[in-house]
Amino acid sequence: MRRRDTPGEGGARPSPSTETEVPSFKIWECALCGFRYDEAAGLPEEGLPPGTRWQDVPATWTCPDCGAGKDDFEMREAG
Ligand SMILES: [Zn+2]
Repeated sequence: MRRRDTPGEGGARPSPSTETEVPSFKIWECALCGFRYDEAAGLPEEGLPPGTRWQDVPATWTCPDCGAGKDDFEMREAG
């Protein structure tokens, strides 16, 4: 009979400690007009470079299509 009394050796490591370099981007959709803001794509013409997180979008930003505020946007799963 074998006993596992050396958990520190040869064991499978459940989760690598490497940080996620490319966090998943999300898509936010305007509840009023359906306009979508893609974090990965940003909105360069609105002054938001690609990769701009929703949380980094200025609170004063409004939907370019209907003028709705950020509170009117809902998160959509990308993909
Ligand atoms: Zn809108």
